[in-house]
Amino acid sequence: MTPVELPERTVLISGASIAGPALAYWLHRYGFAVTVVEKAGAPRGGGYPIDVRGTAIEVARRMGILPRLRDAHVDSQRITFLDPDGAEIAAVAPHAIAGSIEGRDLEVRRGDLTAILYTSVRDDVEFLFDDSIDTLDQSEHGVDIAFRSGDRRTFDLVIGADGMHSHTRRLLFGPEGRFHRHLGYCFAVFSMPNTFGLSRELMMWNVPGKAAALYATGGKDDELHAFLNFHQPEPPLDALRDPEAQANLVAEAFSGAGWKVPEILDAMREADDLFCDTVGQIRMPTWTKGRAALIGDAAYAPSFLTGQGSSLALVGAYMLAHSLATNRNHTEALAAYEKTTLKFVEMNQALVDEGAAGLFPTTEQALKERNTRIRNLVTIPTSTPRPAYSALKLPERLV
Ligand SMILES: Cc1cc2nc3c(=O)[nH]c(=O)nc-3n(C[C@H](O)[C@H](O)[C@H](O)COP(=O)(O)OP(=O)(O)OC[C@H]3O[C@@H](n4cnc5c(N)ncnc54)[C@H](O)[C@@H]3O)c2cc1C
Repeated sequence: MTPVELPERTVLISGASIAGPALAYWLHRYGFAVTVVEKAGAPRGGGYPIDVRGTAIEVARRMGILPRLRDAHVDSQRITFLDPDGAEIAAVAPHAIAGSIEGRDLEVRRGDLTAILYTSVRDDVEFLFDDSIDTLDQSEHGVDIAFRSGDRRTFDLVIGADGMHSHTRRLLFGPEGRFHRHLGYCFAVFSMPNTFGLSRELMMWNVPGKAAALYATGGKDDELHAFLNFHQPEPPLDALRDPEAQANLVAEAFSGAGWKVPEILDAMREADDLFCDTVGQIRMPTWTKGRAALIGDAAYAPSFLTGQGSSLALVGAYMLAHSLATNRNHTEALAAYEKTTLKFVEMNQALVDEGAAGLFPTTEQALKERNTRIRNLVTIPTSTPRPAYSALKLPERLV
């Protein structure tokens, strides 16, 4: 099969993290003229470790980036679970917890994945950094875009790959609240000095409704990723707007906590990369409207509780590009993208209902049960590797 000759060839993508550059790669390959607009001044580096698993590994292989992803693989050795006093409950292999397949699925720093994707496409498509879509106006003939910088241009198609709090979604479909499903937690991630001498391992401390983790993705001389997660039945939207209020909210939630939590809270105040948000999913009845569509977290953020966000972004990019390249017009193409990708998205989003949140129990009893499950992982190892996530059979690459 070869790409059909579409009259609609110019595409604007908003967002240059994971979904955006992956889509740009495939659309360029299929003959589209692609522009990517990103509000940050450069591809955003750093960041917490993320999984690339299952079908997304095949997408990466078809992009030719799998060797670079393997080089960037974090390869952590163990997860140690701690009780409220910091005493060890059990130490287990990471893949047993993540539901991934050892030796096949990968874990890389988010910034490394973005850099690898960006490098694979930066010479072939136009990137506009430090800018974003202000307004978009669709007509029969195209989408008129006014950029924040004041520029105005018209594209055949516009795709929002601008994350969980997508501005493109807001412009097309209305306020985020309509599509956001709060999962009952808030979290903060930031880097901190490795004063604990950890190396390629994760330490996880829990009390009911609270978890603190330190993740060493490198050796003893490298920084740690600190992660604080806490139960919050209602989303504290006001407190999340301002970084100072975010830090106060987290500090209050963890006040009086044991183990290394006081040192972690001190480090949070010093961190220059504090990222705090509610844990939630985006669930929409449709991801497309006219000449526009959404992919990745903008359309179907599954939350970190599923470990599938980056994989959905990579697979969604592949499926959308394939649909655009094989259908006669954008209306048929966008309908095909939804039809072929929806079930895969729904099954992976449903991982939160199937117990992924069990890692962060909110009651004494649930924590006890979780600890028993963790201890059993050590004493009764599973023999057949069975991934927790769902897969999708990809259509053949066109060129
Ligand atoms: C703590 C944490 C842990 C996670 N762990 C995992 C994991 O283990 N496995 C996993 O698969 N996923 C994980 N995720 C989720 C994963 O990070 C996301 O699902 C994934 O990054 C989605 O990629 P994306 O490109 O759709 O969106 P994002 O990565 O959110 O990127 C959006 C991009 O759009 C840009 N942007 C935003 N607004 C605008 C605008 N108005 N104009 C222009 N550009 C804009 C942003 O700067 C950014 O570059 C985790 C997330 C968090 C927060």
